[in-house]
Amino acid sequence: MGLAVLAVALLGGGAAACTTSGSDASPPTTGDRSTTTSSARPSTTTTEAPTTTTFPGQAPADVAPADPKVADVADPVFDGLGDPRIDVSHYAVEVTADPSKPGISGTVAITLQPRTAKALKSFTLDLKGPEVSEATIGKQAAKVSVDGDQITVTPAKALRPGKEVTLELRYAGTPEPGEFPALGVPVGWQADSLGGWFTMSEPSGTSTWVPVNDHPSDKATWTITLDTPKAVTGIANGRLTSSKVVGDRRQWVWTTDHPMASYLVLAAMGDYDLVQREGPGDVQVVFAFPKGVPEASRKGFDELDAILAFYSDTFGAYPDDDAGAIVVATSLGLALETQTRPLFGLDAVGDGKTWALAHEVAHQWFGDAVSPERWSDLWLNEGFATYADWLYRAHLGEDIDVLASADAGREPSGLAVTDPQAAATFDGSVYEGGARALHALRRTIGDDAFFEVLRTWFAEHDGGNATTAEFEALAEQVSGKDLKAFFTAWLDAPKQPQMPG
Ligand SMILES: [Zn+2]
Repeated sequence: MGLAVLAVALLGGGAAACTTSGSDASPPTTGDRSTTTSSARPSTTTTEAPTTTTFPGQAPADVAPADPKVADVADPVFDGLGDPRIDVSHYAVEVTADPSKPGISGTVAITLQPRTAKALKSFTLDLKGPEVSEATIGKQAAKVSVDGDQITVTPAKALRPGKEVTLELRYAGTPEPGEFPALGVPVGWQADSLGGWFTMSEPSGTSTWVPVNDHPSDKATWTITLDTPKAVTGIANGRLTSSKVVGDRRQWVWTTDHPMASYLVLAAMGDYDLVQREGPGDVQVVFAFPKGVPEASRKGFDELDAILAFYSDTFGAYPDDDAGAIVVATSLGLALETQTRPLFGLDAVGDGKTWALAHEVAHQWFGDAVSPERWSDLWLNEGFATYADWLYRAHLGEDIDVLASADAGREPSGLAVTDPQAAATFDGSVYEGGARALHALRRTIGDDAFFEVLRTWFAEHDGGNATTAEFEALAEQVSGKDLKAFFTAWLDAPKQPQMPG
């Protein structure tokens, strides 16, 4: 994510730069959703699932208990998200929406398998707003119950460990976005200022428009179909594989074959120009610009190829087949590294320069290809993207020691780089603090070892997840140095030491 407070400073808009228009960020209403159960399979008559269910062939001793304590990924920063008992490999989602209506409807086929040692009796998915009306696994109905911002899915038969199944859900309703810390920007499905819709989903907004195992530790590939009125353009991550007209609608199908963390999923629809061209290597580049964005503002994205080339040389080849960006018709006060197609607001473009472009493109390596195992590892995203941006700026002639100096960037908050509170608030310590720790590491182990660490880090974890402890171990292994005291001082202490000479 583009550094929000720096964005405000650079964009000169103060708090007003952070507001978005037309979005309803009010907290979810509770209503009676906690008692909702779904019916199963398509039918013209509603058949409620039974409230107590026993299934034949289910030996209790072989079944993992439906324990609510393990229904969320243990995460010290954003809790209540994801379910560690399942591993999703693919989402095929089809969402129907209309610019003039706040509600959506959709279906999703979720390919998953239990991670548990015993058969899995039930599991949870995150969902904020829409309600599920049908659930099947194979040909059998599954029971769905709602508990706040998540649903519990109870298959007719407990799922066998390691055996892949496909859960199909039909759902509809109005997305209920949350709010990004400190900025007031809605998180999730939201309106732009020209009658379109888009998603800004870090850390947990994807669950406002599709049921999802909403934690970065469970990455999956996605096929996203956006069903829009014929004149409206639908945009998502990856490659546009079809855009078929069906009656007065158009179905935009976007596919990404590279595993993606759920907060990096993008969906948008509105009055856009899609600008497609060849990028470096075999990379396909697609930009989505709201119609009316002037050529001078679009020009700022011409820098993409130079940035991709510099990072590919520095960290290893670009990790995807598709690249580009989307500009949404609103002022965001931030930018987000949505995979292959980072998200910018109108306040980020202009004068032939796009604010935070080098930062968001760096995330395609650090954050998107290599994703954090827990939100407390956020500095592995933001510190690395900030440092990559410094490297790019140094490549263009700036002095990296000035960029890395203690009085550059945001005022120190007194939070350690790895303090969960720093990650929870997207504090400057995970951005500049993390980047300074990397610069100090470079000064301590030398350029050759340092860049070998970065390249190895990307190569070893591309497509997966990683932890701070794994990064520390890799730096020690490559450099041959004991770096325990170094990392304690630079990552775990509230005040960082003097930069080594
Ligand atoms: Zn970032």
